[in-house]
Amino acid sequence: MTMLTDASPRKNNRTQFAESDRIKTLALPQDRTLLTIAKSIDVAMREGLAGDVRHACGEFLAFASDFYEVPTCGFRVLAARPLRVRENWTSELFGDYSPEIMLIRVWMRTAIRKEITSYGTFLSTLCHEFCHHLDFQRFGFSDSWHTRGFYERAAALYHHARDTAPKKLVWSPVSGGRWRIDWPRTNRLIQH
Ligand SMILES: [Zn+2]
Repeated sequence: MTMLTDASPRKNNRTQFAESDRIKTLALPQDRTLLTIAKSIDVAMREGLAGDVRHACGEFLAFASDFYEVPTCGFRVLAARPLRVRENWTSELFGDYSPEIMLIRVWMRTAIRKEITSYGTFLSTLCHEFCHHLDFQRFGFSDSWHTRGFYERAAALYHHARDTAPKKLVWSPVSGGRWRIDWPRTNRLIQH
C-alpha cells in the first residue's frame, strides 16, 4: 500500500500540520478488549455475516471513543464503494470520514473488481478513519492531514488491535516536501 503524506498547507494551519507530523505515538489501551473485538470482526467477515461485522465495528468504535474520551463517531459499513464521493470527506480507497457529522464509512468490496476487502485492509481502514476522528476531536486540529505522524498513530492503533508488532517506518522525502514510506527499507530493518 502506498503511503504518501499530504503537502503542508501554504498559509493557514501550518503549525497544526507540523504538530500532527510530530506526534508519532498514540496512547493505547492496556487491556485486550480491542483485540477481542477486532478478532470478532475477522470471524464475522470470514463467515460473511454483514450484520455481525456491523455490530463488531460499532463495538470497536464505541470502545475506542470511550478510551480516547471523544464523542462516539457514527459509522456505516457499505457493501461497495459509493460511486460519488462527496466533497469535504477525506476519501481513501476503502473508507472515508466526514468531520461535520462525525461519520466513518467503510466498504467491504473494492469498486473496480468487486473483490472482498481483506480483513487486514478493512481493520487498517477502520483505524485510519478513526484517527481522522481523533485529529478533530482529541487533538483539536481544524483539519486532518495525512502526515507522517498521522500514519504512525494509525499504525500504532492497528498493530495494537491486530496484536502484531509495530514496525518502525522508514520515510523517504519526495518532491513538494512530502514523504512516503520506503517499504523495502522498512521491511529490511531488523524490527524489535
Ligand atoms: Zn485518510
